[in-house]
Amino acid sequence: MDELITMTAAELSAAMAAGDVSAADVTEAHLDRIAAVDDRVKAFLHVAADDARARAREVDARRKAGEPLGPLAGVPVAVKDLFTTIGMPTTCGSKILGDWHPPYESTITQRLRNAGAILIGKTNMDEFAMGSSTENSGFGPSHNPWDLAKVPGGSSGGSAAAVAAHMAPLALGTDTGGSIRQPAAVCGIVGTKPTYGGSSRYGVVAFASSLDTPGPLGRTVLDAALLHEVMSGHDPMDSTSINAPVPPVVEAARHGDVAGLRIGVVSEFAGDGYQPGVMARFTEAVELLESLGAKVTEISCPHFKYALPAYYLIAPSEASSNLARFDGMRYGLRTGSGSAEEVMAATRAAGFGAEVKRRIMLGTYALSSGYYDAYYGKAQQVRTLIIQDFDAAFGQVDVLVSPATPTTAFPIGERADDPMAMYLADLCTIPTDLAGNAAISVPCGLADEDGLPAGLQVMAPPLADDRLYRVAAAVEAAFNERWGHPLLADAKGLSAR
Ligand code: GLN
Repeated sequence: MDELITMTAAELSAAMAAGDVSAADVTEAHLDRIAAVDDRVKAFLHVAADDARARAREVDARRKAGEPLGPLAGVPVAVKDLFTTIGMPTTCGSKILGDWHPPYESTITQRLRNAGAILIGKTNMDEFAMGSSTENSGFGPSHNPWDLAKVPGGSSGGSAAAVAAHMAPLALGTDTGGSIRQPAAVCGIVGTKPTYGGSSRYGVVAFASSLDTPGPLGRTVLDAALLHEVMSGHDPMDSTSINAPVPPVVEAARHGDVAGLRIGVVSEFAGDGYQPGVMARFTEAVELLESLGAKVTEISCPHFKYALPAYYLIAPSEASSNLARFDGMRYGLRTGSGSAEEVMAATRAAGFGAEVKRRIMLGTYALSSGYYDAYYGKAQQVRTLIIQDFDAAFGQVDVLVSPATPTTAFPIGERADDPMAMYLADLCTIPTDLAGNAAISVPCGLADEDGLPAGLQVMAPPLADDRLYRVAAAVEAAFNERWGHPLLADAKGLSAR
């Protein structure tokens, strides 16, 4: 059984197809792992054990009947708790939703179900995806499997921790400002933010609608690509869904190759605030890419330094509008008495956490008459300048690279009372969200100071998501050869350092 939890999704899929192992066994092994370690990691808010077992039996029966099954059939997938799922609660990490059971299914989880994937449970997250550590969850933080005293990143921290701790080979996350790539980087796994509109937002509870992008997390580049492909594609239920073919990400992940590729190192992502060990691993990764035949140049993106302030006007503005629906009338929690306004105020006071309230107030202020042009309007202008920086860069190179995060995982509690320090965790990831293009984080080693994982970020133009996988697969293969094993092997023991 222990062997099954260490296998990749691709290996599990092949073993099930060959009849060496059943989906029921694979599911049971992962449920056992959850039972053994999740009281320490706290990645899951809900484990759908019975449903997962029933689905696994269905997959086994379909296989026995000779039905053609896709690559994710029988593969467990952990789901960030903001995808609406029938038969499971959807909390968004918020007390205001409590144990709300949505009446409809998100497009992406429905696609996974159709593909025979086993939705094994719902994972912890920062409340409404606002945060970088899962400490803003209304249900307590998750822990980093590499060091249980550290955060697993956020907001998709439960998903990243579940995958890193071998409780599921794959997980779904969402990236609005970095919430897939940042937790992937600090948990030593692979995480992708697809091109905006490439993955459906239908049934993904909205934080900032012009930025929210669902994406995959996995322990290998190929696994992430397999999930990326199954979850992607046009959805008429999402008005911003792109009606274009899904980029050939699986094909690219199978053929890591950077020979002749033009790679730009973003010069703005360095200097103060970057942990020396993270920069050392990044520099090595760039040298590695060069040794594999890539042509590396330095590229300046002068407006990236304004991305963080622009994001913290745009995202809260959209959030303040989106979160108005949690009024104590329609969903989840209702508390207080008296008029509708009094009930609404009491419910929102009791149901939302401090960071969510801060964002609603910030956003409402930025959108208010007299301030709209100065704050929200200016931020939108900055967004255009960032898109232009990317356009200019991609006129010269095929992909851009940077560290995925300025530091490795930080101690639980360290940044909890310092919003600015917390926001800085997404310094390298936010420009991509503002521009709507695609990016991946792939492990590139352990920082010397603390022995914790660092991630290499690769950024590609819109709809060139396959380039990410081509580069990441080359990096992964070269590093695995150097280390003699995948980087992640180290997290399995759940070391408390
Ligand atoms: N950490 C960022 C924030 O707090 C990004 C979150 C996200 O991508 N969902 O807004």
